[in-house]
This record gives sequence, structure tokens and C-alpha cells, in this order.
Amino acid sequence: MRLSPNLRCFFNFASSPQSIILLLFYAFSPSAAAQSCGSQGVAVQVLGSGGPELQDRRASSSYLLWEDGQAKAVIDAGGGSALRFGESGAQMSQPDVLLFSHLHVDHSADFAALIKSSWFEDRNRPLPIYGPPGNDFMPATTEFVYDLFGDKGAYGYLSELLVPKEQGSYKIQPHNVTASSTPVPVFHNESFAVSAVRVIHGGVPALAWRIETRGKVIVFSGDTNGEGEGLPRLAMNADLFIAHNAVPEGTTGIERRLHMPPSVIGQIAADAHVKNLVLSHRMLRTLGKEAETEAEIRKRYSGPLTFANDLDCFPLK
Ligand SMILES: [Zn+2]
Repeated sequence: MRLSPNLRCFFNFASSPQSIILLLFYAFSPSAAAQSCGSQGVAVQVLGSGGPELQDRRASSSYLLWEDGQAKAVIDAGGGSALRFGESGAQMSQPDVLLFSHLHVDHSADFAALIKSSWFEDRNRPLPIYGPPGNDFMPATTEFVYDLFGDKGAYGYLSELLVPKEQGSYKIQPHNVTASSTPVPVFHNESFAVSAVRVIHGGVPALAWRIETRGKVIVFSGDTNGEGEGLPRLAMNADLFIAHNAVPEGTTGIERRLHMPPSVIGQIAADAHVKNLVLSHRMLRTLGKEAETEAEIRKRYSGPLTFANDLDCFPLK
């Protein structure tokens, strides 16, 4: 249980036994962790601001789109993010869609935990799932989901979630999204529209996602080395651009083939005229280098910039 800085501070001033009892009640009751992100209007909440390293003490990549108190979309589900999902106050009965940027462990490991929780949350409508196609190296999104929840899958005991002929549960509906550097519409309903481009993340099939809702645009870079025209196109005029700060400036070799350094993030944010930049997917190699990272980005982009932490909430006003 983490106490918020406010609560910690308040503790120092609490003197009467009643106030201490009251504080302990709020500090240790599960509802104390419930957040109020997105209770009105549109907001994005960072469930996981870290990368794959557990020592960063952050959940791995995951984000929620909130609309009027409902968690409408889940973007990635890296390790640790299912716990943050619960802490956010979201319910798995709420999302209209789940989007994967790619299927690396730090973007998908808690997917099964989210689905299992939905079993207990009275979900009674299908859950569409979109992610990249596969290649020789990685499974397609449909294959990934079947490998987990198909009748021969690792969690085949839950196959009624997926196998059409099996009764008793709502269905998860996986789809592969073949995208290029031109944004392709993927999903829409009465409240929001989702499009994607393919991004370069070494040899791993990967997507960046754009969500448009109530005149606001939110773009998630996912993991990418920043090459190509797709991401700046997708991010054009975004109200919120969440970019992955996985490597410091000057990185070379495989890390650079997978990830974009701050100079590239700054260039894309500037080229796309984004109105707000949030840096997430923070790793041990970038944590502690925020000043250098910001200085590098500032050479190209002058708008608002925030380094994300788990459960941070970004309302779109
Ligand atoms: Zn990653």
C-alpha cells in the first residue's frame, strides 16, 4: 500500500486518536486507491509507465481511455498493469475495445489477468481485440489470443470466452490489423473512432494507435524507433501524444533499432504539431536522465511535456 504524498503529509498533522483511526481506515481500505480519472469528460490514464524491468517499480505499458467515468478502451496490458487497472477503479465490463501495439511481454503479459477478472465482472457483450499481424518471429494477434484461450490453449479451461460453439460466456473477438504508413480506420462506435499505422520496432510487427473522441485526438506511439512517415501522420495535431522514452540520446545498436531517442520524439512531436507530449515506457536507462531528455526534446518541440508515472491522469479539456 502506497500512501499518496498528501496523505503522508496529513499523517504528520493528525493528532487525535479519532483522526488516526479515520486516516488508517482511508489509508488501508481498498477504495482509498480508487482514482477519479475521467469521471467527467475524456481522459487518458497511464496504468503502466515502465518498461520490462521490474526494478523500475512501475507497471509495464498500459493505458486507459476514460469517458464520463467509463473505461472505454484499453491500450496494451503489460505486466503489473492489471493491478493498476483495479486500482484505477475501472471494470472489465466497461471497455468497448482492447488495442495491442505489439505482443512483447511488457505490452501483453497481463492480458490474461484482465480477461480472467472480466469473468467475475458481469461482462455480457463481446470484447473486440485489435493488434498487429504476425511474422516468422511473432504470433499474429489472433494466434496469440488462441494460444491462450483456444480449446487447446494454455488457458483452455476458459475457452468458452473464445470458441464460437461453446456457450456460457461473452466472447473475446481478436483481429489482426494490417496497416501501412497511411492511417487506416480500425474501429468506431458512437463515442470514439480508432485508427492505426504500422511503426518500425526492429523486426516485431507493431502499431501506433490514434483515438478520436469528442473533437479530441489521443495518439499512442507504442514501441518504435521512429522511422518512417506513419507516426508523424498519425500524430498530426494530437491533443495528447504518448511517446515511449525507452532509450537515452546517443543509444546505438539493437536498442536504437527498437526505440526512438529523445531527439526523434521531439522531431515527431514538432512535425505533428502535438499539443501535449507525455513520455512513458520509462526504463532504468532513461530514469534519472529526465533533464537531458527534456533538453534534447526542447531543441525541437516547445509545447507541454510530462514524464508519466503509474496512474497519472491526463484530462482532455
Ligand atoms: Zn516495450
